[in-house]
Amino acid sequence: MLYLNGRFCRAEDAMISALDRGCLFGDGVYEVIPVYSRNPFRLDEHLARLDASLAAISLPNPHTPLQWAELVREVIRLQAYDDQSVYLHVTRGNAGERDFPFPAGVAPTVLINPSPLVTPSPEAKAKGVRAISHADFRWLRCDIKSLNLLPTVLLREAAKQQGCAECLMFRDGMLTEGAASNVFVVKQGVIACPPKNHLILPGITYDLVIELARQHGVPMEVRPVTEAEVRNADELWMTSSTREVLAIVELDGQAVGDGCVGPMARQLDQYYQDFKRTVMRAGKE
Ligand code: PLP
Repeated sequence: MLYLNGRFCRAEDAMISALDRGCLFGDGVYEVIPVYSRNPFRLDEHLARLDASLAAISLPNPHTPLQWAELVREVIRLQAYDDQSVYLHVTRGNAGERDFPFPAGVAPTVLINPSPLVTPSPEAKAKGVRAISHADFRWLRCDIKSLNLLPTVLLREAAKQQGCAECLMFRDGMLTEGAASNVFVVKQGVIACPPKNHLILPGITYDLVIELARQHGVPMEVRPVTEAEVRNADELWMTSSTREVLAIVELDGQAVGDGCVGPMARQLDQYYQDFKRTVMRAGKE
């Protein structure tokens, strides 16, 4: 069951117009909220990021945080499975024609569509995954969670073609992020990751991993990270709501450190899994 424009229905009964601006232009924004044991994780933060994305594209938020929370919780309740990945998007709606400027008086399209949450396999966790890199050819507002995902599609496909799970991106010699994840580096026991700005998506998992590192007294620097630092790192990992904390053990065919999942990645993943069990599943946040 999903939610579309005011009603709950089966996916096969959900219809969106071919003239929806999300379909024509990718004119909209989205969120992906992980749900553990039917508890949405950091719902307020996801809704705040949604609100920021909507404001950045001048699309009025159709719902208050309370209304969103009720809709999301109802969709969660309607599914047959407990751990979910709740995808939601808001587009500038169907103006009945293909014209670029904003239409007047058109209702936005609101879709909330959950699926079973798929997290990394035990094998991926134990052995880590491989990644490629590419110049960051996206636009300069990567802080907006926009429906324009063609770069992500192309970069993830390029990674897949080479048997890799992610594509890391560099802009002007600096690390930005992964195609659909944030990236952390470790050198001599110190973790570093790029600061939030218009060049990266402010990840909810990124925030949590920084919090967990600080809480446990692990050295953690939020600062610009050079491409050379990434290529010479002892450890690398990516974070996202579905990838959690996933070690990258090979970049562009070169081993990262000794080519195995490193101690810091293991440690942070352990903190993350403990937090998931004790806080997220318990719905304490
Ligand atoms: N960066 C990009 C470009 C993403 O698409 C994502 C998630 O899909 C992330 C970072 C990680 O964000 P979060 O931790 O909120 O899932």
